[in-house]
Amino acid sequence: RFVPAAAYLETLNPEQRRAVEHGVGPKGAAGAPLLVIAGAGSGKTNTLAHRVAHLVACGADPRRILLLTFSRRAAAEMTRRAERIAIKALGPKAGIADSLPWAGTFHAIGARLIRRYAETIGLDQQFTILDREDASDLMNLVRHEAGLSKAPKRFPTKGTCLAIYSRAVNAESSVEQALAAAFPWCAGWTAELKALFQAYVEAKQRQNVLDYDDLLLYWAQMAAEPAIAAEMGALFDHVMVDEYQDTNRLQASILTGLKPDGRGLAVVGDDAQSIYSFRAAEVRNILDFPKTFSPPAEIVTLDRNYRSTAPILDAANAVISLAQERFTKNLRSERGDGALPRLVSIRDEAEQARYVADSVLENREAGATLKSQAVLFRTSHHSAALELELVRRDIPFVKFGGLKFLDAAHVKDLLSILRFAQNPRDRVAGFRAAQLLPGVGPGSASKILDAVVASPAPLETLLAQPAPPRAGADWTGFVAAVAAIAHGQGGWPAEIGLARRWYEPHLERIHDDAGVRALDLAQLEQIAASYPSRERFLTEVTLDPPDATSDEAGPPSRDEDYLILSTIHSAKGQEWRSVFVLNGVDGCMPSDLGVGASADLEEERRLLYVAMTRAKDDLRILLPQRFFTHQQRAHGDRHVYAARTRFITKAMLDRFEQLRWPPPSAENEAARGPLPRVDIGARMRAMFR
Ligand code: ATP
Ligand code: MG
Repeated sequence: RFVPAAAYLETLNPEQRRAVEHGVGPKGAAGAPLLVIAGAGSGKTNTLAHRVAHLVACGADPRRILLLTFSRRAAAEMTRRAERIAIKALGPKAGIADSLPWAGTFHAIGARLIRRYAETIGLDQQFTILDREDASDLMNLVRHEAGLSKAPKRFPTKGTCLAIYSRAVNAESSVEQALAAAFPWCAGWTAELKALFQAYVEAKQRQNVLDYDDLLLYWAQMAAEPAIAAEMGALFDHVMVDEYQDTNRLQASILTGLKPDGRGLAVVGDDAQSIYSFRAAEVRNILDFPKTFSPPAEIVTLDRNYRSTAPILDAANAVISLAQERFTKNLRSERGDGALPRLVSIRDEAEQARYVADSVLENREAGATLKSQAVLFRTSHHSAALELELVRRDIPFVKFGGLKFLDAAHVKDLLSILRFAQNPRDRVAGFRAAQLLPGVGPGSASKILDAVVASPAPLETLLAQPAPPRAGADWTGFVAAVAAIAHGQGGWPAEIGLARRWYEPHLERIHDDAGVRALDLAQLEQIAASYPSRERFLTEVTLDPPDATSDEAGPPSRDEDYLILSTIHSAKGQEWRSVFVLNGVDGCMPSDLGVGASADLEEERRLLYVAMTRAKDDLRILLPQRFFTHQQRAHGDRHVYAARTRFITKAMLDRFEQLRWPPPSAENEAARGPLPRVDIGARMRAMFR
């Protein structure tokens, strides 16, 4: 392809441009590895998008570019950006979005490559994927079978068992190391846990299912086999990774397996934004990256922030400057002056919700869309009061990183039928699907499924099973539907229609408000139609489900305007004009669960930094005076007066505008004068005197 005067390169600053052009040979051939390490809003993601477009403009084949991002949304966004730039460079016919098939998360891309090489590595290609909840159900089953659920109460719960297992796998460490690093109170159970994990791994293999961690683990194992690694690596000329600071050891070893000499590898990240160490992310990955290869990677640092106004950036810089360890330097704002970020003191969480709703509407009056505003919080349940307030006031919203559309029971039911048809040995799916039938309980379901799992021809075995005594004709209908789907009758997406038509008559018996739920299922069928195949649909919705919305009827269409609610973790990489950070108080930030080790405290500081650096023009941190922390909730304490987060020290206060809401007016003050004291306890005692 011919590259016209490269106007798209002129929008970049000199360092960004160096990163875009580094190691791009004739016809877009790959050169030495590249690391871009720089602070928030410095244009790392934007630089990667330009690099994709530039490579294509120079003649690289977009189908041979692997682009790894932290969410599916981020992959879609990056693809869109690259497309826009490519069109600027090469004209309207340069659309590359459809020819960038390898853009996605590590997990989703892993699933595709594992399927591609399934036969070589002894896996059945029809494997299905367990989400965290399914994995914990399976862990529980295995725990039960091993007799450990009858062990004394202190044996770790199924969730903890899975977390320990996951930690060991992702950190490439032994069970002992994982326990010592993150679960010291479970160390007494090391032998039992090892036996349990052994049984869990065997169960997954028997059932031909992979959990989330397996997607990285199998991929890393393939990348460690020289012959497979070479073939896999040869699929891609360029491998690019965004948010590299949040990758773990497995992910790093996948990359070196694919590209042992680092040629064509480009990663970007910011060590000050590393917030996933609880999932064994390893900030050392990014710091060690240059040394991993010979010749070493080119390092590009960026020093300008294009996102936030100077006052917002100053405040965020002040917070992160107290971090103990940090590689990236402070940035300077290219945006210039603006309003000070605000610290807003409020009575409690209910008032906080009112304040946010009021302010969001005020902003909208002033011309800002809802979509340009976001509310960020530490953990998903912190938005409960706000969600109620938004629903009450009819303000539409979408919640990222919270309860998902697909978590709804009826949606999971329908998916379990599809999954069971895809892989009849998937016991968790089968267990759920079979019990949708009247007269089928855990006992009869288990009996049938155990026979199916053990069979070399699972579908045939399923069809040959006698109907459970009280299920009769319903059973026949069920297995017929499963078989029809398994055989791909009508093709995709007609198969999901088959499942829905079988399931819908049962809805009313199983769930309340069957009408609303039926609408959801119809919507799911529509979503399904945008995927090329059943297995792609199942894989991708399991890995990265659509987000929940306020109207409970599945994901919104694109052109609607809605407010964004998001956990800070899920807000990574994004930006909004206005950002509200809920509960900026000690006990929440840092969480009182996270103040033990100093490493945890540092991660909490980075979390606040990530939250603050999402704002472009307007940042407000809310300080409810009454806030129940985890521990206070657990102990049932009533009176707590929360203090401003310790990460915003007294010395930093002049970087903020401090205010109370509602503003103290004479009238308010008078109305809120101290209440007369009443000793109700004394009255009660007097009652029986
Ligand atoms: P984060 O660390 O939060 O992921 P980032 O470093 O990836 O941030 P981007 O999201 O790529 O930063 O860019 C931040 C904003 O700055 C975007 O709105 C982007 O369009 C803009 N931007 C980046 N580079 C430039 C530039 N050279 N000129 C103008 N705007 C830019
Ligand atoms: Mg980014």
